[in-house]
Amino acid sequence: MKPKQAKLMMRKYLDDNYLQGWQIGFMNKKTTAGNCCHVTKTIKLSSWFVKLNNCKRVHTTVLHEIAHARIGYGHGHNLQFKISCDYLKVDNASSTFKNNDTFMLHGIERKVL
Ligand SMILES: [Zn+2]
Repeated sequence: MKPKQAKLMMRKYLDDNYLQGWQIGFMNKKTTAGNCCHVTKTIKLSSWFVKLNNCKRVHTTVLHEIAHARIGYGHGHNLQFKISCDYLKVDNASSTFKNNDTFMLHGIERKVL
């Protein structure tokens, strides 16, 4: 997916969830697909993850980070987070790279295409 498309996707879902004060960005990490920081009110995607994956995978990760943003700091992947994921209709599993060739999504190790 192109970074510009991912940026538009992040902004749309932040705005749709009344998170207009939040910022978007990219990070250079290869071990994490996405990140939500309540201190800086920023959601970020790994630029590697975006470049190497299709729209559907990036979409799932964006919604995962939005689910974190909606419920505030200190919840991790607890029950409130799961309820937030259910509201957004997204799987609550984390999406994390295991190495350069695979990443975890929905609890399943997947190959980067
Ligand atoms: Zn998470």
